[in-house]
Formats: sequence, C-alpha cells, structure tokens
Amino acid sequence: MAKITFAPGPSKVYDAVPAYFQDAYTQGILSANHRSGQFMDIYRDTERLFKEKLAVPEDYRLLFTSSATENWEIITQSLVTHSSYHIYSGSFGKKWFGFAQHINPAAQAMVLDKNREIDVDSLNIPTDADVLAITQNETSNATQVKNSVLESLVSAYPDKMLAVDTTSSMAGIYLDFSLADIWYASVQKCFGLPAGLGVLLLSSKAVEKVATIGEHGKYNSLSFMLENADNYQTHYTPNVLGIYFLKRVLEDMPSIKHVHEKTESRMQELERLVSASASLDFLVSNEACRSRTVLGVSGTEGFIKEIKKAADDQGMTLGGGYGPLKPTSFRIANFPAITDAEFDRLVSFLKSY
Ligand SMILES: *Cc1c(COP(=O)(O)O)cnc(C)c1O
Repeated sequence: MAKITFAPGPSKVYDAVPAYFQDAYTQGILSANHRSGQFMDIYRDTERLFKEKLAVPEDYRLLFTSSATENWEIITQSLVTHSSYHIYSGSFGKKWFGFAQHINPAAQAMVLDKNREIDVDSLNIPTDADVLAITQNETSNATQVKNSVLESLVSAYPDKMLAVDTTSSMAGIYLDFSLADIWYASVQKCFGLPAGLGVLLLSSKAVEKVATIGEHGKYNSLSFMLENADNYQTHYTPNVLGIYFLKRVLEDMPSIKHVHEKTESRMQELERLVSASASLDFLVSNEACRSRTVLGVSGTEGFIKEIKKAADDQGMTLGGGYGPLKPTSFRIANFPAITDAEFDRLVSFLKSY
C-alpha cells in the first residue's frame, strides 16, 4: 500500500485516475491522433469545462504546455514587449524571474519578505515594464497573494498586463480570472493528476498582444500555438492522456465556489491546530499572506526530522521544506484530491503535537 502523500507537488492524485485510465484505453484515446476529431472534441470540452467549473471568462483561450516552467519562458518570449516586473517572496517567483531575465535582461524584480503583503500604493513600477509577474500561490514558502491585492494592482496599473502563477492554487480555490490576462498552472498540484502537463489561459487582450508582438519561429511561440488552438489542435504531439485526465477531473469536480469552501474550511481547521499546539509554528506568521492550499509549518531541524519520521511510520508523507527552508519546515498540501478520511488521519496525527 502506498503512503498517503501530503506533499504539495507532485501530490496525491484523485482516486478516480485508474478508472479514467481504463476508459482512455478502452476508448482508444491512448493511441488517438492529435489531428483527429476525437482529440479536438476532448480539447474543446476541456476548454468549455474550465469556463463552467473554474469560472474562467468566455473569451479566454486554453493552451496546453508541458509544465509551469515552460510557461515562464513562453510568457517572456511571446508576451513581453519591453520588460517584465516581478514581485515575489519565494523560490518559484525567483525562478520565474531568473528564466525571464535569461531571455530578456531588461526584466526587473522586487523581493518581498514572506510576511509582507504587496503594498500597491508604495510600489514604484517602471513605466516601460509592460508585464507584471505575480506568483499568486508561492508553494515554496506557503504564501499567497489575495484576489483583492491583484485587484488593487490592476486598478493601479491598468496599462500593464498581469501574468499570474497559480500552479498550486488553480482548481483548489476561487480565482477571479477576469482580473488578469495571463494565468497558468500545471496539473500535478490542485488538479490531482500525474505530472507532465501545463495549462496556460489567455484573455482575448493577451491573444491580441501576441499578434501585435508577432514573435514566431520557436517551437513554443505563442502565435504558432494559438494558430493550432484555433482548430482545437496542438503544435506538437501532446500529452493526450494528460489532457483526457484533465477533462475527466473537471467533469467530476463540483463548481469552484464549492471546492473553495471546502479548501478554506480544511485550512482553517489546520490553522486552529497549529495555533493550539505547543510545538507547531506557522512558517508564515502574517495571516493575510498565508496560502489556503499549502500549509507551512516551521520548527527546529531536529523537530522537523522527528515529525516527518513519525508521520512516515504512520503511512503518511509530509511535504518537505523547499529550497533554503528545507531543514526548518515541512509543508502540507491542502488539495482537493485528499479525501475526508485522509484529512481526518492527518488531523489526528497533528493533534498529538
Ligand atoms: C510547482 C510549481 C512550479 C513548477 O511547476 P512545473 O510543472 O514543475 O514546471 C511553478 N510555480 C509554482 C508556484 C509551483 O508550485
């Protein structure tokens, strides 16, 4: 029996995945040609389901990529006219900035402490920066940027295009997609699927910008990808199985408002536990910055080792700390694929601390 994993990516997959796989095999999807009607229908249905289940606005396009990391490059390549401006507090935001800078040395960044919310009024973003890069849910340090902060950013900088990394929050919490033109994620987090597929959502304004910039010729130039997407096809042989899984997960999930409530109530329960515990401490002390899908707990190196081992002995894997936070923290994925029974087991384990 595999251990229950609470790692925030790759994370626990939905228990229905083996049934989806069997269906894919039976229906010939594993060998389906990506120019076939069968594939085009799956693509069309998946895009429609993003709108129905996740409340993505009607005019947004869904594109498939290989990972969130690939989206970092694609955005700089095809959607930045002059430069991007990155505001981040953790490792994923920093990596995004690194990839952006490599392609476009004019990229700039502002680093925030993990307990500081973005203070929009005090920002001084250069006029020539045309894309604002925000990691909405920073998986590495368990922080988040709230919808309301994104909203203030957009109203303060209406001429800039907002690009939002929601790799570990999309499909786990409600996101107001109308606030930004560029959103992305990958499926091994809140979508509860095996790794190997990224998604990129673009508003019609972003699609227009791709055309204006006109970048082309790379295998993943957005102009080329969008041209294929117009026919519900992809520019290379895609992860058809992963896309099919995604369609099935979206079909079977309740609407995002419902998922959001459950995510929120589970996180509140975990937070009450940490607050009441003598030995557990929040990695993020400022409540306003705390992620709703990833809980970060900090402690001494000895304590972190001990609790991870104790969980392991009980058949549960806690997520390790990330990057520089590895020795002194652990993380818990509060993702929808975790069942109530699994969540209850975690809660009773943590209660003993
Ligand atoms: C996991 C993660 C990534 C990287 O995702 P890949 O699919 O491995 O490229 C990027 N950003 C955030 C916030 C993540 O949690």
